[in-house]
Amino acid sequence: MLETISQILQKETFTKNDLITLLSVKSPEAMQVILDKAYQVKSEMVGRKVYLRGLIELSNICSKNCFYCGIRMSNTKVERYTLSKEEVVEAATFAWKQGFGSIVIQTGEQKSNIFTQFVEELLLEIHSKTNNELTITLSCGEQSLEVYKSWRKAGAQRFLLRIETTNHELYYQIHPKDENHSFEKRIEAIKNLQSAGFQVGTGVMIGLPNQSIEDLANDLIFFKAMEIDMIGMGPYLEHSDTPLSSEKALLWPVDERFKISLLMIALARISMPDINIASSTALETIDLFGRQKGLLAGANVVMPNLTPVPSRVKYQLYNNKPNLDKNATLSVVSLQKIITEIGEEIAFNEAGNSLHFSNRQA
Ligand code: SAM
Ligand code: SF4
Repeated sequence: MLETISQILQKETFTKNDLITLLSVKSPEAMQVILDKAYQVKSEMVGRKVYLRGLIELSNICSKNCFYCGIRMSNTKVERYTLSKEEVVEAATFAWKQGFGSIVIQTGEQKSNIFTQFVEELLLEIHSKTNNELTITLSCGEQSLEVYKSWRKAGAQRFLLRIETTNHELYYQIHPKDENHSFEKRIEAIKNLQSAGFQVGTGVMIGLPNQSIEDLANDLIFFKAMEIDMIGMGPYLEHSDTPLSSEKALLWPVDERFKISLLMIALARISMPDINIASSTALETIDLFGRQKGLLAGANVVMPNLTPVPSRVKYQLYNNKPNLDKNATLSVVSLQKIITEIGEEIAFNEAGNSLHFSNRQA
């Protein structure tokens, strides 16, 4: 088996069957061969540097009802909030002063003009208060092309919109089948983001009920075919107040979700060497060293949470979200420690743009 793995890893491009074989490895030795290859590719292409994106969870108000997500509209147990302009600008200024190259503004999906204009105002205000030195990523769901263009014009440079799964049938097992949760519209939104000039990130959840290894191989093929610049993906984790968490018999064992997540990061790095890949918080939820393991599997981005603690507690997508009680300063200190522990360094004051995006532009 080890010989087959090594032979596949020498190929320029992986077929779907290759990806399935690599994602199906069972022995720790075979897995390590794949992770080592990914780390070598990472070191050569993007270096052993970690880019920080300060995460600001703008609002937990959401108009959608994704079956997996703790802040879905129908979860009446959630106390809803939206951060004030001052709170957002304060968190962004903290990131800037700490030497983070960039921030991510993430939120439940809201399409009202009031909300989309609020985001636009935030972009302008943050840039003016931080000397235009922060790169801003948005993760604000599906919007019209006009809204995407207006946010791009107001100074957002990157956008994250996960496809969640590329299996059409599975997509409708984890979302209501209606106009508000259309698979086709999600793909169209990703294309619109590209045409609006963003560096575009997407990703999937790993270990969903009924998800197969073949589905995950198809996800990797999709990322490459779509010329994606960034990937944010991680294990699916249950939230007890959501419909998907009741499918107990279909849940993957947690350690399997973790292991396959690391393999997905590694294979994404090997097949798309110049993209940015995040080591997700969901990895840390399963394993105390999850973020480090993600970096060692080929990820190069970490997103420390800068949301004010009282609101952070209300933005729970899944159970056991980590760092709920840590203020921003503390989470930066602990991050610095875990990054130096694995022999990597934080790229302070660098935007850390996706090389793939620059290569695409060239
Ligand atoms: N509302 C926007 C959207 O859906 O694109 C952005 C915020 S949404 C909370 C960000 C991501 O959280 C989703 O794309 C989804 O993959 C992830 N997420 C939600 N619930 C999750 C869960 N139970 N386990 C793992 N990831 C989850
Ligand atoms: Fe809303 Fe995003 Fe959660 Fe879906 S994943 S319910 S769109 S916040």
